[in-house]
Parts: sequence; structure tokens; C-alpha cells
Amino acid sequence: MTDQYDLVVIGGGSGGVRAARMAATYGAKVAIIEEYRVGGTCVIRGCVPKKLYVYASRFADTFEVAESFGWHVEASFDWPTLVANKNKEIDRLELAYVAGLEKPGVEIIRDRAVLTGPQTVQLVQSGRALTAKTILIATGARPFVPAIPGAELGITSNEVFDLPALPHSMLIEGGGYVALEFATVFAGLGVNVTVVYRGDRILRGFDEDVRVGLEAGMQMRGIQFIYNATTARLEKAGTDISVTFSSGVVAPFGAVMFATGRTANTTGLGLETAGVALGRNGAIGVDAYSRTNCPSIYAVGDVTGRAQLTPIAIREGWYFAETVFNNNPLAVDHSQIPTAVFTEPEVGAIGMTEPEAAARHSEVSVYVSRFRPMINTLSLKSERMLLKLICAGPDEKVVGCHILGPGAGEMIQLVAIPMAMGAGKTDFDRAVAVHPTAAEELVTFKSPTYRFRDGVKV
Ligand SMILES: Cc1cc2nc3c(=O)[nH]c(=O)nc-3n(C[C@H](O)[C@H](O)[C@H](O)COP(=O)(O)OP(=O)(O)OC[C@H]3O[C@@H](n4cnc5c(N)ncnc54)[C@H](O)[C@@H]3O)c2cc1C
Repeated sequence: MTDQYDLVVIGGGSGGVRAARMAATYGAKVAIIEEYRVGGTCVIRGCVPKKLYVYASRFADTFEVAESFGWHVEASFDWPTLVANKNKEIDRLELAYVAGLEKPGVEIIRDRAVLTGPQTVQLVQSGRALTAKTILIATGARPFVPAIPGAELGITSNEVFDLPALPHSMLIEGGGYVALEFATVFAGLGVNVTVVYRGDRILRGFDEDVRVGLEAGMQMRGIQFIYNATTARLEKAGTDISVTFSSGVVAPFGAVMFATGRTANTTGLGLETAGVALGRNGAIGVDAYSRTNCPSIYAVGDVTGRAQLTPIAIREGWYFAETVFNNNPLAVDHSQIPTAVFTEPEVGAIGMTEPEAAARHSEVSVYVSRFRPMINTLSLKSERMLLKLICAGPDEKVVGCHILGPGAGEMIQLVAIPMAMGAGKTDFDRAVAVHPTAAEELVTFKSPTYRFRDGVKV
């Protein structure tokens, strides 16, 4: 076997796998190098196991309303069963990813790769040297851990899925979707959860009503919030961890998790040797076609810091392969990305928030619906859900949609289709409602709840 390739991909995660498969399908000789497990963060320790744990935790909500439907449930939860079944599913998926690469003829190399030049790569364990016409860096990102004394006593999303036992209490630092999803997961599984966040409200950048409603929903599930604070020191205290906060307050927790952002995986990659320049926040700088400043080296996914989401990494990998190996230059549109936060209550969002729309458009109409989801109506559960449509201009083009409540993630995926087509409010109105659903609110709004004119709410 020769060590010369058309394409060498570093990193077997969402972006790298898609790029390698597509390039091989177009006839390129491709090798993909992975130092851990094929599938990357999403499959092994991200989206997939996270969603499985979300399902596990949501039985708590179901049991809460079950009695109002006549059910009497005596439930108990076994953490090792969940971990073992998760592992089985992850193993199955990894095999499927391997098969998907091998079918079009991609060579999978399990090793760590370092760039030694613009077209050369060295394997750390085997010492093998590879040359390639094109190199794709798809090394993803890793959890950022604050440099505080005792930080090594804390865990990150890398370790949280395989805790040997459920802790009695947990402190989670962070206010983004990873922190909040794990907070609801562990609260649902019976852990006493506290979130500490340096800002003054969770989920920065999302719709304000969604942020407020989510905080209330999480508090209703027993989660406590500490704002405008960080962890300053961790110390062992018997089987617990004693946490000193930036305020000086000290409290013990069964476990401490850092969910304080993710850093691009560029350390020790040989970028300087190959002449690849970094962009913002230590991520690799690329153009619209994912090409770095070095013409033979491209980068996709989390390592480029554009949008740290699996579908974006996959699309960047696909468009890279189209551009370089199918003579079909395609640039990913990052302007309108639907996203879900799998908390309880769930969040779905796409497009502009109210302030963003009001800053860009002189006429903005906002349609809001709040109501108790039908599943709660027989019980005493008072939680309400929220659906919001933001429209701009005289033709009321839909520029934003924000949902909080059951099924928000599924709904926002479908809203993304008319929005990608440039739909207006009248297009939504033409759609016939499905009754009784929550989503029908989106096609039955009559008049705006309020408007913005030249940036002012009226
Ligand atoms: C807890 C968690 C939950 C998430 N949930 C969601 C979600 O619900 N929805 C969503 O869209 N996104 C989610 N994400 C984000 C998503 O996982 C990432 O955006 C996605 O995996 C990025 O893909 P990638 O190909 O850029 O990198 P990765 O999937 O991280 O793959 C990079 C791979 O490169 C390997 N590697 C690194 N350096 C080297 C080297 N030098 N040599 C060889 N191999 C190397 C790594 O081992 C890794 O396997 C979540 C992330 C986390 C952490």
C-alpha cells in the first residue's frame, strides 16, 4: 500500500466522516485518521448519548402527570442500566460509521495525526508518513476547563456519560445549552442540581421570553440558579467536592461539571509547521469554501469555530467534497440555522430575535401564543408553552420563530423549510391547521400581539 493519497482527513467526527465518504464516492483515494473513536463527539459523547439521557430523564415529567390520566406508577431508576444500554447503542453506531466509510473505499487509520507540511502528515504512534494532494482538518473541539485550583476534581461532558454512580447533588457551571441540558437530565434522574453562571440569565443570544420561561420551567423541576458568579476553587471534602464560589460562599456538591464552552482542537497539530493561520478564538480561519490560507489545506466543523453543531459540520464536509472533488463549488449558508435545546421545557429557535429584527427592519410584527400544553390540562401542572413568530416588512416575511415547550425541536425543524424558501406570514396562513396540536398556533395567528416601528415597541 502506498502512502500517497488524494485526500487525508484528520478527525473521524461528523464533518470528517462526511467529507471522506463523499470524496471517495467521487473517486478520490482517501484516508481518514482518528485518534479516539470513529463517529466523533456527536456519536460517542455528544448529541446521541445526550438525547438518550434526555429521554431517560423525561419519564419524571410523564410520571408526574400520569395519575391525572388514571395511571398509578411506582417507579425507580437504575443508572448502570442506562449507561450499559447507551454503550451498546454507541458501539452499534460506531460500527455503522466504520462500514459507511469502508464501503466507498476510505482507509481508516486509528492514530493521532500531526501536520509536517502543507501536503504531509505524520502518524504519532506508527511513525508512518502520508502525503496528500489535499488535507482536511476536522479535529473538532474539546471542553474548556477554567484554570482554577482543584479543577481536576471536576468533570466535563467527556466524562459525564459514564459516571460510576449518580451523585446526590451536582453543580454545573455554564449557561449555554450543554450546561442546561445536563442540568435537566440529572434533575430528572433525581439529582439535586445547581447551575452557576457568570452572566445574569441563562441561554444568552436566545429570545428573552424563551430564556425567562426556560429558567422558570427548570426552577419548577427543582434546579437552582446562582448568577453573576463562577467557581473559584474545588477541594476534596470526604466523598464530596467543596466548592468556593467567586462570591466567597463555600458549599459541598457530590459532583462538579464544567460546561463553560468548547475550544478548537488545534494544539500540537503542527499548524505552524504547515503554515496554517488561526482565526478568532484559536479556531482555524477559513474562507466560504472552508479553505485555509494554505491552498492544499481545508478545515470543517467545530475546529473552524463557525457554528458548533453537527448538521453544520456535516454540511461543511459535504460542500468541501463537492467543491474539491466534484468540480461543484458550494459555500455553506450560515445565516439561518435552526437549533434545539433539549431541556425541560424544550427550546426550538431559528432566525432573528426581536431586538435583531427591530434593529434591521423598520416594521416588525410579533405574534405570540402562550397556553398550557394539552398533556398538562388534566393535572395541576401549570407550566405554559410559548410559540412566537417574528415577521418583517410590509409583506411580513417570517424572519424568526421561537418555541418553548413539548416538541419544540421537532417543530422548529419543519418551520426551517418555509423560512429557507423565504415564506411570509400569508404563506403560513394558507396552511391548514392540524388539530389538536401545539404547532397549529403557528398557522392560526390573526393579528400581531405587538409591533416594532423604527426600533420602538408599539
Ligand atoms: C455534550 C454535547 C452535546 C451536543 N449536542 C448536540 C446536539 O444536540 N446537536 C448538535 O447539532 N450538536 C451537538 N453537539 C455538537 C456536535 O457534537 C459537534 O458540533 C460536532 O460533533 C462537530 O463535528 P466535527 O466533525 O467538527 O468534530 P468532532 O465530532 O468532535 O470530531 C473530531 C474528531 O477528531 C479527532 N481528533 C482530534 N484531533 C485529532 C488528531 N490530531 N488526530 C486524529 N484524530 C483527531 C477527535 O478524536 C474526534 O473524534 C454537542 C456537543 C457536545 C459536547
